[in-house]
Amino acid sequence: MASPIKDDDDTVKTPEDFPPLLSKKFNITDVKQDALKWDKEWEAAIASSTAADVLKEMSRFLDDSCFDPDAMEFFHQDLRRVQDNVAKILRDLFDEGHFDTIWLLLSVAEKKRHINEGLKGACEAPTFWGQDCRALCPEVTVSNLLTQGGKSFVDFLARVLELTESSLQPAFLPNSWWEQASNLPNPWWEETPDVPPRRQISQSTKLMFEVATINRNKFIGHFIMSSVLSIVSDITNRSGGMKGVLHVMENTKGYVARALAQVKTTFRDKPLVRCENCTKTPEEIGQGVRFMVCSVCKTKLNFEIHYCSQSCQKQDWSLHKRTCGKKPVSKGLSGTKGDSLWAFGDSDPSANMIRDFGKKEGRHLTSLRDIGVNPCKGKRTPAAERQAEMLEADRNVDYFLFTASGEAVRFVIDDPGAKMIFRINRGWVMTKSSETGLDAMGEYILKIMSGYPGLSRRIILKQLCEEHGVSTTRKIMALEKKSREHGKSTFIEGWVKDSSSVFGDLAWLGSR
Ligand SMILES: [Zn+2]
Ligand SMILES: [Zn+2]
Repeated sequence: MASPIKDDDDTVKTPEDFPPLLSKKFNITDVKQDALKWDKEWEAAIASSTAADVLKEMSRFLDDSCFDPDAMEFFHQDLRRVQDNVAKILRDLFDEGHFDTIWLLLSVAEKKRHINEGLKGACEAPTFWGQDCRALCPEVTVSNLLTQGGKSFVDFLARVLELTESSLQPAFLPNSWWEQASNLPNPWWEETPDVPPRRQISQSTKLMFEVATINRNKFIGHFIMSSVLSIVSDITNRSGGMKGVLHVMENTKGYVARALAQVKTTFRDKPLVRCENCTKTPEEIGQGVRFMVCSVCKTKLNFEIHYCSQSCQKQDWSLHKRTCGKKPVSKGLSGTKGDSLWAFGDSDPSANMIRDFGKKEGRHLTSLRDIGVNPCKGKRTPAAERQAEMLEADRNVDYFLFTASGEAVRFVIDDPGAKMIFRINRGWVMTKSSETGLDAMGEYILKIMSGYPGLSRRIILKQLCEEHGVSTTRKIMALEKKSREHGKSTFIEGWVKDSSSVFGDLAWLGSR
């Protein structure tokens, strides 16, 4: 794939007109032709390069004469100017709040688009090597920044901001991969057999490393500016995929949006691949292992059963042969396509509870009913304590209500979206971790259950006050008033309706 660089121009290069060395070497598609392909090819190129290779390639047309002390001083100041701008933008955004929540609630496609805008902006920015600077920043790739539901991007911004604000000097973001190029031995410069140096190339690796490091950080600065401005412009214009997110932010209380954004960070974007026999993932085995799929299932059913090795396939055969080529059946290992809850991380306690429960029952669960009540951080009233105990004992129930004669009524929500929001609110109320939640939970219970035989609005409110304090009625009524003003039935139902633009149909939470 690498094509040799032809250079028939004998004039001395100045930093302004370096040919695009790396993008040419890796034969990278023009960004204007196909931005997605461009990005994919760059990611592959970055993954296959060492810092030394990159530095060597980029130093071909440079020598000491380009960089006298005055020039170096200017480069440093120039970088700091960019970083001052970046820090100011980020500080404003973070202080305003909600920025990270908005970002996390965006769809994967939208997040990709903004990061791509950032990369394009950085490639067009006035750095020495234009888009080649990408190769200096292995941490700035779409796939890296999208991990943990996009939390990596927010963490990255926070890290850069912290580093920039910690000093008035130019900030150099640490990166162990890149720093390997800082101490290259001198003979290294002569080991460039494919292109003999036409000019006396400087022995000063250190200086080249410094110049490249400055450009690396300048590229990062411009990347942040362009990506963040792309997001802010969508917010201002309510354009693209931002509309649905803003709708949720404005029509629900911020805390629900924040909680859901948090939940989203633990979601997987795609299912894991696991060996059907030893259950390991390629990452767990390491050493560049290549998984195989059962070819019969693949050709006949277009269904993928993965194995890490032939011996694992052999060991699994007695089991797999029963369905091989006949039915698309897998063991449904945690996090794989066959796991109805694959989007949840392995460490998500609620998802694990449902998974374990499903195993015990020998079937896949069809709802989120096993999200329980967590231990209380403060002291519950005796009535709330009894409620918590009963909920733990019967996890199908979303809330226990009591008739005037003390008979328990099981309140169970069918709609998966409403159930999830109800249980998030219930979690806060029962663990007393937040002042919020009680009103939304109470409003919903009243709406659905007031007309139930043996119950009434008055009876339910009396119970909730006993459990959660005398101000409960006032809190619930305030929310009811607000919901009426917004033309909504209840806060929770309104949320489920509004959020479908962000989360899609929540039914996937329960079923395959
Ligand atoms: Zn295996
Ligand atoms: Zn098969």
